[in-house]
Amino acid sequence: MSRIFSGIQPSGELHVGNYLGAVRNWVSLQGEYEAFFCVVNYHAITLPYAAADLRLRTREMAIGLLAAGVDPDRCTLFVQSQVPEHAELAWIFNTLTPLGELERQTQFKEKSARQEQVMAGLLNYPVLQAADILLYLADLVPVGEDQIQHLELSRVIARNWNSRFSPDEPFFPEPKPRLTPTRRLVGLDGKGKMSKSIGNTIGIMESPDEIWGKLRTAITDPARKTKNDPGEPDDCPVIYPLHRAFSPPETVKLVEENCRGAKWGCVECKRVLHENMMAELAPVRERAAELDANDAKVTQILDAGAEKARAVSSRTIAEVKERMGLPLAR
Ligand code: ADP
Repeated sequence: MSRIFSGIQPSGELHVGNYLGAVRNWVSLQGEYEAFFCVVNYHAITLPYAAADLRLRTREMAIGLLAAGVDPDRCTLFVQSQVPEHAELAWIFNTLTPLGELERQTQFKEKSARQEQVMAGLLNYPVLQAADILLYLADLVPVGEDQIQHLELSRVIARNWNSRFSPDEPFFPEPKPRLTPTRRLVGLDGKGKMSKSIGNTIGIMESPDEIWGKLRTAITDPARKTKNDPGEPDDCPVIYPLHRAFSPPETVKLVEENCRGAKWGCVECKRVLHENMMAELAPVRERAAELDANDAKVTQILDAGAEKARAVSSRTIAEVKERMGLPLAR
């Protein structure tokens, strides 16, 4: 069975963009592949944060993933800092990564532009990401579109390492992205991608009223000034993609007809979307509340996940160090 790996930052909120762009795919692929899913808290500390806050957010993200359907009986779910080999392999990979490749990463440019002082960890973020994936010799990475450039770099790093230390037969696979139909969900403001740091998200754990409040005010096709003006679903940046992700095909068809023919107003269209979204998200919210009340169970799942992850990562790091002339820890 081939392996998949994917990670998510403990950003405090599993939002509809992460959910549709990545996590829904994790859930559907976990039976098909040997799957490793990770809450990447070492990535999260590349920007300023408070320790108590991070601890809480890491727990919340794990609960969110479990509630969304990540099943510890069918995959390995763990927290990155509980598996020290991630940092170890990242250091090794730093020695094989050209600086220029890191400096041209779009995410680095965007994130560093918002910082007063840029730490080296932010620049080296994609190196750690390569280590995350390659530790498990994963060849498939279910992610959103924003991660494609980082994955290209993971392939460069795998190639560089292979050519130096495993020239006859590649040791590391070259991981490829696996995208969903919602590869890049636009935020509620209709401008950039939906992202916690921009503040244009819908959290999948938000209450039905909160979600309705956000949908009600979300931007739609600007051509639809009144409900009698016809619109074009493809010009509706948020609501139409959400319909396609949450509503059954016959409803999506109706949405297209009613929008193009000005047969209903945007508010009606949003109401139908809200109903369909809540049908999927309300049970997730309930499961999260149950897990939240059972702290010991969550700890046990994550500890067991870290142990399973280490069984694989320790083998990889041993092989890597052996080939690089680095004695192992005893
Ligand atoms: P990062 O901050 O490194 O992008 P996140 O933890 O925010 O990572 O994202 C987790 C996953 O969700 C990634 O696979 C990312 O590609 C995906 N994702 C995030 N935002 C969106 C979005 N707006 N649309 C689609 N996928 C997204």
